[in-house]
Amino acid sequence: MDKGTIAVIPVRKGFADNTVSEAIAEAGGRAILIGEETERAASFLETPSLQLLCLEAVAFSPARWSLLLRSYLEEQDLVIIPATPDGRDLAPRIAYELKWPLITGAIKVGPGYAYTVRHPRETMLEYRFDRPVVVTILPGARGLEPLPSGAGHPSITVSDSTIATESSEEGSDALVLDILSSTPGELNLTEAEKIIAGGAGLGSKDAFELLELLAARLGAAAGATRVATDAGWLSHDRQIGSTGVTVRPYWYVALGISGASQHLAGVVDPEHVAAVNLDPSCPMMALAELPIVTDAPKVLDEMVKMLSANRLSTEFMNQQV
Ligand SMILES: Cc1cc2nc3c(=O)[nH]c(=O)nc-3n(C[C@H](O)[C@H](O)[C@H](O)COP(=O)(O)OP(=O)(O)OC[C@H]3O[C@@H](n4cnc5c(N)ncnc54)[C@H](O)[C@@H]3O)c2cc1C
Repeated sequence: MDKGTIAVIPVRKGFADNTVSEAIAEAGGRAILIGEETERAASFLETPSLQLLCLEAVAFSPARWSLLLRSYLEEQDLVIIPATPDGRDLAPRIAYELKWPLITGAIKVGPGYAYTVRHPRETMLEYRFDRPVVVTILPGARGLEPLPSGAGHPSITVSDSTIATESSEEGSDALVLDILSSTPGELNLTEAEKIIAGGAGLGSKDAFELLELLAARLGAAAGATRVATDAGWLSHDRQIGSTGVTVRPYWYVALGISGASQHLAGVVDPEHVAAVNLDPSCPMMALAELPIVTDAPKVLDEMVKMLSANRLSTEFMNQQV
């Protein structure tokens, strides 16, 4: 286990997901960027001490890319791939080509070890390996410290027994028929520059349906606290916080959220924060540059009505982003 660690970053038309720097940092600054206009994508990276290889390739084709990458990656013993939608697609193909095990959804990885979380997200698994592996790393997880060994979480030794033995001689990819734009309310939270999140103060699933509608109208992503996702008002992938996703928005609107430390741990450096709450002294209101003491479900209702009637200009909400 001393050949080396490298990150593989999928690139689409000069852009990589803005969380890929974490995978590169986890790989000690060594990375292969693969896709179209990789040098342009490299110019946007912020990770210092980079040792980068830019591999120009046809538009996203995980099977063909993994064949192309094989000769580069065989020289390594740890390949780290961000668990973005493209990364999650590419990683199993690469693992298959290399005949290496794949460990998915790590929060921390290094030579010989990886820690992952499984649903419910409090369940942590510790992997130990003394053979080459491919690992995907969760966006926003860098900096989280796993529980120490012996803290009660299962430990798994990765062996050769689960590795596939047949090889594909040529890659076969799905045929892309059309690319549809996503619904803004369902935007990837980790990439969203505008987020409208709701908490227990919204009080019902109906209110969260309005929240998603409002987010969609404003080109924002909808988020929630754990109380709200546990109540089934929004899906668990929308949960922001220490056991949810970490977000880095330009603006963050919090409706009926108290601002518990576990929630705020997932909200990193927003430029602007507005909060609507009945309690003027809760942490979320203290954090907000625009704290509004009033009933959050009513505000939500009114904003959706105003947008439906085109009386509220979205220009202000869209500016400077
Ligand atoms: C190990 C662990 C991990 C956790 N992980 C997370 C996590 O990842 N994310 C997360 O969010 N939480 C997490 N939590 C839970 C966290 O501690 C809080 O319980 C949760 O964030 C509170 O959610 P909330 O703000 O929606 O609810 P509450 O704390 O109940 O706050 C509701 C707020 O709504 C306001 N309100 C009530 N009615 C109205 C109204 N009509 N109009 C306006 N405001 C109103 C209240 O004044 C209050 O401020 C975790 C907890 C633990 C122990």
